[in-house]
Amino acid sequence: MCAVVGIINSKDAARTAYYALFAMQHRGQEASGISVSFNHHIKTYKNLGLVNEVFNNENLSTLKGNMAIGHNRYGTAGSKESKDAQPIAANYLLGEISIAHNGNLTNNKEVRDKLIAEGAIFHTNMDSENIIHLIARSKKEHLQERIVEALGEIKGAYCLLVMSRSKMFVVRDKYGIRPLSIGRLKDGGYIVASETCAFDLVGAEFIRDVNPGEMIIFEEGSNSFESIELFNAQAPRICAFEYIYFARPDSTVEGKNVYEVRKNIGKVLAKKSKIKADMVVPVPDSGVPAALGYAFESGLPFEMAIVRNHYVGRTFIEPTQEMRNLKVKLKLNPMGEILKGKSIVVVDDSIVRGTTSKKIVELLRHAGAKEIHFRVAAPEIKFPDVYGIDTPTKDELISHKMSVEEVREYIGADSLEFLSLDELVSGIGSERKYSLVSFDGDYFVK
Ligand code: AMP
Repeated sequence: MCAVVGIINSKDAARTAYYALFAMQHRGQEASGISVSFNHHIKTYKNLGLVNEVFNNENLSTLKGNMAIGHNRYGTAGSKESKDAQPIAANYLLGEISIAHNGNLTNNKEVRDKLIAEGAIFHTNMDSENIIHLIARSKKEHLQERIVEALGEIKGAYCLLVMSRSKMFVVRDKYGIRPLSIGRLKDGGYIVASETCAFDLVGAEFIRDVNPGEMIIFEEGSNSFESIELFNAQAPRICAFEYIYFARPDSTVEGKNVYEVRKNIGKVLAKKSKIKADMVVPVPDSGVPAALGYAFESGLPFEMAIVRNHYVGRTFIEPTQEMRNLKVKLKLNPMGEILKGKSIVVVDDSIVRGTTSKKIVELLRHAGAKEIHFRVAAPEIKFPDVYGIDTPTKDELISHKMSVEEVREYIGADSLEFLSLDELVSGIGSERKYSLVSFDGDYFVK
């Protein structure tokens, strides 16, 4: 759960990268950073915090150059320390490089242990650092070959940006688990970003997605880019969770607008069973598009009867159960005037630990709702995702421990329904395959 951006051959690249990272803040709020290449030197600025906390006019104006890479971090591997911010820059035999990575490497420990045994000194806790060591230790003559060799050693999910002093290499793993798109900036430069919502903010035009298994090479001063098929991408599998929860609704992931997909999933959910209710209420913001689809399909009125406070800072996001309980109350407030004595269908995008939904049902009852029918726009999450979505351990996943009926009882709803796997796939589009690990436990990259 991170965002990456690359800017090539564009004036004031760092500033454009900053705006792109700002648009992709939802993909990571722990740390942010930008590396620029200027006068044959790479300069990096990174720190813990949100994009607009890390960067200001002063530090951005020190990041001069026409080429930049940037990163927003949401820790899935590593820790919450400033040394675990990206990009990671280093000096090695061929000069300076900097890398930014989104995704999770599944053979992280194996590769790291081997590198340490051979004498490598690690500076961070991140799996991404393996890549820079592998590049530095390769005996190949050119950076491109070194990257290819390094990629041969790693497994898992990655969207990777490697910037040298004059080139940028962009690679997506052979399954294309995390999204990555290419756009054209107004001044003729290029932008590569995790999500297309970044293109909208900086006025870039979408060109195409980076293909699974593809390496794209941009060069300073060049008006085009080179493409190499590194791996044979036979069955691309974009992560279904990007559509369900993670990506911004205004992004287009693999040709599909996320908002439309979510609405469609809501329609599928409404077809499952007909309920006599007074209204459909979304859990804001994540459940809104699916609830709209549900209301459209069922013909029930749509009411924003739960109001969200948008100013709940990260200060309150503490990992203890007690703090999580309070967090829901701080964030969501159901309106008694709308809900009193009513039978409602509540739609949310997913149930992970069950804490949020239990609290929501409690708050809705307190506000006077008579019947609460909880509908989830995803299947039961039974397995941890290991390809870059932050999910708790198996034991914390409520649907791993409990049946649907037990979850219903636990959260206190009158009825509860999830989507089946087939329904989810039909809602997104059954013409292709998806990474569905959280639901089916099929860890296709071992
Ligand atoms: P809970 O069941 O209390 O763990 O939380 C479920 C809520 O968290 C859902 O409403 C989702 O919108 C949201 N959610 C789903 N997946 C994630 C994730 N990987 N990280 C943070 N929030 C998530």
